[in-house]
Amino acid sequence: MARKFFVGGNFKMNGSISSITEIVENLNKAQLDPNVETVIAPPALYLLLVREKAKKEIGVAAQNVYDKPNGAFTGEISVQHLKDSGIDWTILGHSERRTILGESDEVVAAKTKYATENGVSVIWCCGESLEQREAGQTLDVIAKQLAALKAKVSDWSKIVIAYEPIWAIGTGKVATTEQAQEVHASIRDWLVKNVSQSVADDTRILYGGSVSEKNCTELSKQNDIDGFLVGGASLKPAFVDIINCKL
Ligand code: PEP
Repeated sequence: MARKFFVGGNFKMNGSISSITEIVENLNKAQLDPNVETVIAPPALYLLLVREKAKKEIGVAAQNVYDKPNGAFTGEISVQHLKDSGIDWTILGHSERRTILGESDEVVAAKTKYATENGVSVIWCCGESLEQREAGQTLDVIAKQLAALKAKVSDWSKIVIAYEPIWAIGTGKVATTEQAQEVHASIRDWLVKNVSQSVADDTRILYGGSVSEKNCTELSKQNDIDGFLVGGASLKPAFVDIINCKL
């Protein structure tokens, strides 16, 4: 199965009703490459607004969910509420949630299992810190994150992997095409060895970390880069150029 190129936009905790409406209207007006799956992740409070306003070709993602059915979990985001609202995706395991909110590999894996088993697809993030990269631990860190995921998840068809080196997120310091391709190839190799050849062939592996309209074309040419998870640039009109980087 050919892997459809995927571009996600992570708005993080940014925007307002008017600025997010403007972003969505720009995307609706733009000619987006039909060979690219586009999914945008606004803050939770704006999910319904975005789902109502965005054209149907554009997917919508939450930035987090909880791993339990509805109930006494004050402040959490329910997978069932997402489904009820026509939201088919969520980001999970973003490094900001891992580092600021203290989510462990196991917690992220449990959330991923719950979401995928209940009909919500997951952009599952992994990646190393600068300290870990400099210590030569990049591939080990990612293998450990993947192993925790594999211990809980059996259906990989609803998972897109986003490799996001923490040192490249929001810093303007993009990984080189060689650095990104090396890690993507090793993630695919890990999937071959630990899950299956077909999961390795079919799973999209996105790169995230200071992707812009200037660096996306080169990155998109790498064999194992199947798309991007974009933070800062997804709030700008140039997001359209990133979605269309293959044209
Ligand atoms: C992100 O938050 O997922 C991200 C990649 O951010 P940025 O593109 O701003 O580095």
